[in-house]
Amino acid sequence: MHPIVCLILLICALVVAPAAAQDAVQTAAPETGPNWDGTLRRIHAPILMYHYVSPLPPDWDAVRKDLTVLPDLFRAHMEYLFYEGYTPISLYDLNDALLDGRPLPAKPVVLTFDDGYEDHYATVFPMLRQFNFTATFFVITGAADANRPGYLTWDQIREMSDAGMDMEAHTKNHVELDGLTYDELVYEMLGSLESLAHYTGHASHMFSFPVGRYDDLTLQVAAQMPIWRAVTTENGALHTTDNRFELSRTRISFDTSVDALAAILRDN
Ligand SMILES: [Zn+2]
Repeated sequence: MHPIVCLILLICALVVAPAAAQDAVQTAAPETGPNWDGTLRRIHAPILMYHYVSPLPPDWDAVRKDLTVLPDLFRAHMEYLFYEGYTPISLYDLNDALLDGRPLPAKPVVLTFDDGYEDHYATVFPMLRQFNFTATFFVITGAADANRPGYLTWDQIREMSDAGMDMEAHTKNHVELDGLTYDELVYEMLGSLESLAHYTGHASHMFSFPVGRYDDLTLQVAAQMPIWRAVTTENGALHTTDNRFELSRTRISFDTSVDALAAILRDN
């Protein structure tokens, strides 16, 4: 090769290299969340918080009962939503609507299920498919890692994800996050996000604080992670563009009759 051609190629390589590096940074940026268009929005969309959907076990206590909705009642809830024209949406839909005004269907509602219990696969998942509803499941990934009895397995989590359910993070070990150190928070929060991405093949960007516990450091760490929105256990249904990590929800429990659900959806 002629020395001048060689020199030109070398210069080109030097000029192109920084540009390529810059592109890499720019393409990585959307991983931090969809872009906000600068408009602050308020959207009313109830986020229903379920835990167990199962019969009560023989050794049930008051706490377990409060976290349980019997399968027949759950079906009645879904029938009410279906026949009253509610449309279950994902937290990604809600996030898009808050950030750039993307339209939501009429009467939007978000269905969330915490803790990744096995009945979410055995009972909830088939019923949701009958109604063609989507939902968000906040999984304790350490329980799946350990094949803990009573919890979703990674095969079940992957199947639900492949069917369009959002399988999202609820830490690795369901520890209360207030008071944890930076390293402990990274382990619990990022660890659960990365496990979900590994096993489902989909990046997870939604997070649920165990027992609704978090502090300022938790929120700072969340902001450094690919978490787009997080839900709490605080009661409410009005969401704003800037309450990124503190979406309020509505607790659904053993005594939430269909009439009570109707009142929640109407008044909350
Ligand atoms: Zn939980």
